Amino acid sequence: RTTHFGYQEVPIEEKASRVADVFHSVAARYDVMNDLMSFGVHRLWKRLTIERSGVRPGHSVLDIAGGTGDLTLKFSRMVGPRGRVVLADINESMLRVGRDKLLDNGVGGNVEYVQANAECLPFPDNSFDCITIAFGLRNVTDKDAALRSMARVLKPGGRLLVLEFSKPTNPLLTRAYDEYSFRLLPLMGQMVANDPDSYRYLAESIRMHPDQETLKAMMEGAGLERVEYTNLTGGIVALHRGIKL
Ligand code: SAM
Repeated sequence: RTTHFGYQEVPIEEKASRVADVFHSVAARYDVMNDLMSFGVHRLWKRLTIERSGVRPGHSVLDIAGGTGDLTLKFSRMVGPRGRVVLADINESMLRVGRDKLLDNGVGGNVEYVQANAECLPFPDNSFDCITIAFGLRNVTDKDAALRSMARVLKPGGRLLVLEFSKPTNPLLTRAYDEYSFRLLPLMGQMVANDPDSYRYLAESIRMHPDQETLKAMMEGAGLERVEYTNLTGGIVALHRGIKL
């Protein structure tokens, strides 16, 4: 059986290790590139995610595919000393950069670091009040399995937020965005990180990712309810939210 790695068709067993290579390769420069490539706008997308999370002091939060920990950092302050945040990622290089950044920011006792695959989360049923996956789902081989696994470990009443690239709603914006991501992005990857292939994968994986309505249906298929989404920056990104009832 095969799956997609960007536009390439690869054997299903190969995708995870190809994705791992990409993130080992970009980990050290990930934060700088994120700011550069999104002109800093990823900070606003993440801020909205935090606002919609409903997280309160004492809550348990899972930030899966959490990478360098931008969301974890904010959640750690929101849940306070009686709460906990789990920063989980499949990639040890990304986790290491994340842990160093959080420690540098004085984040301590209420954060745990777990190396885990979103497809088979190593937590008991009904563990978390909120789960976030930001710019992570498109890298996962079996997205349905990942959504089911997240639904399983959410507490009843808990929220799943998926922040991910999506489909621009305006054709003009789509043209400009295609130019940007297929020409400029690999060039920036080449110049700043000497790694055009990783940034080409990034652009391609965005195009292959399910659009707004498809992802909504996938979340409902995984057992989440009241699923809704908000388009951000003209649909370049969408924030989906579902509740486990
Ligand atoms: N959430 C962070 C953010 O928004 O800045 C990091 C996003 S980064 C683009 C994607 C992350 O997904 C990488 O750290 C990668 O290692 C992780 N990832 C890829 N496949 C995964 C999987 N199957 N399970 C868990 N994490 C995965």
